[in-house]
Order: sequence, then C-alpha cells, then structure tokens
Amino acid sequence: MSGDTIFHRIIRREIPANIVHEDEHIIAFRDIAPQAPIHILFVPKTTIPTLNDVQPDQAEIIGRLAVAAANYAKAQGFAEDGYRIVMNCNDHGGQTVFQIHLHLLAGAPLGRFGT
Ligand code: 5GP
Repeated sequence: MSGDTIFHRIIRREIPANIVHEDEHIIAFRDIAPQAPIHILFVPKTTIPTLNDVQPDQAEIIGRLAVAAANYAKAQGFAEDGYRIVMNCNDHGGQTVFQIHLHLLAGAPLGRFGT
C-alpha cells in the first residue's frame, strides 16, 4: 500500500511492530506508548487520514475495526471484564497519526474520560 504515515510503514514491514492480528483489511499491533495495561491499535490497510475522510462506500471498514477489536478481546479472555475503544480525530481529538486507527484499551478499570 502507498501512504506516508508511520502506520503505513508498519503495514509495509519497513519498521517493526508487535503485530497481534492481520487480515486482508486490517492490521493490529501494540501501541508503542501504552495508556493502559493492554493498548492495541487497529488500522485499516486502505489509506484514510481521518474519520472525516471516510467515504460512504468505506463505512464498512469502521465496523471491521470494531469487530476485530471485540474479537481480540474475546480471544484474549478480557471481553467480559470490559474494554474501551477510541478513535481520535484531528487536533482537538488528539490525533497524532493521520491514518485512521481504533485504540483498544483494557486490562484495568479505566478512567471515566480520556485515555
Ligand atoms: P493518535 O494520537 O493518533 O490517536 O494515536 C497514535 C498512537 O500511535 C499513539 O498512541 C502512539 O503512542 C502510537 N504510536 C506512534 N508511533 C508509533 C510507532 O512507531 N509504533 C507503535 N506501535 N505505535 C506508535
């Protein structure tokens, strides 16, 4: 795939990452600076800079990210305890990497707001 973010480079295997899931549509890997005991990023292989850029015919990828996160939680045995999924958008949302990604945070009771 083409694209210029650090996540594109991870997808192309140009830089290392601790990859926990990959399929035709998605890659998932551990966040380099975890904000919870479990912190996984789910990233589509299609280039989409922000949630604002998702086209109607790309809406299914958002579902794929969420379902992949839930499946990971179930497979790892923490789905019943619970988890949080977050997608940041642009400056006020705190987005720093401009290829959309879903954060999966888990492993302890999380604060009421923020990550
Ligand atoms: P954002 O702030 O855009 O929602 O989230 C970007 C996330 O990517 C941050 O949580 C940050 O720690 C993570 N991150 C940034 N660079 C790298 C990297 O090179 N490898 C990994 N695994 N995570 C990264």
